[in-house]
Amino acid sequence: MSDNDGSQSLDAELIDVARTARERAYAPYSKFRMGAAVRTYDDEIIPGALVENVSLGLAMCAERVALFGTVTTGHKPVRLALVSPRTDGTLTHPCGACLQVALELGGPGVEVVVVDPDGESATSTVGELLPCGPHRS
Ligand SMILES: [Zn+2]
Repeated sequence: MSDNDGSQSLDAELIDVARTARERAYAPYSKFRMGAAVRTYDDEIIPGALVENVSLGLAMCAERVALFGTVTTGHKPVRLALVSPRTDGTLTHPCGACLQVALELGGPGVEVVVVDPDGESATSTVGELLPCGPHRS
């Protein structure tokens, strides 16, 4: 995992799409606005936003909205960006469920870029974050 101070150019276009998706997040209950975007192997960008529900179990993470969108549009993920507030002072990474979906759809090499609202970021891979997740090769 590598940290960046925000001055490095990671994938600015992808992060901008995730940032815009974050602005559209439907988070009236948690107020924890999260936006994601996936870059596909054929260079498409698929956005996703957190979508909550009064029936809390029906909420869906921004990352999975974007990842499912790759299936819907016939693409395969290569990079996932998440723009989110920090959690207890540390950069927020995708939850285990989202990592498992990324592993299933793109394999352990999918890059994960997490960015806070100030632009600080860290980059890793799904395989580093979920080293023993079951997946088909
Ligand atoms: Zn998640």
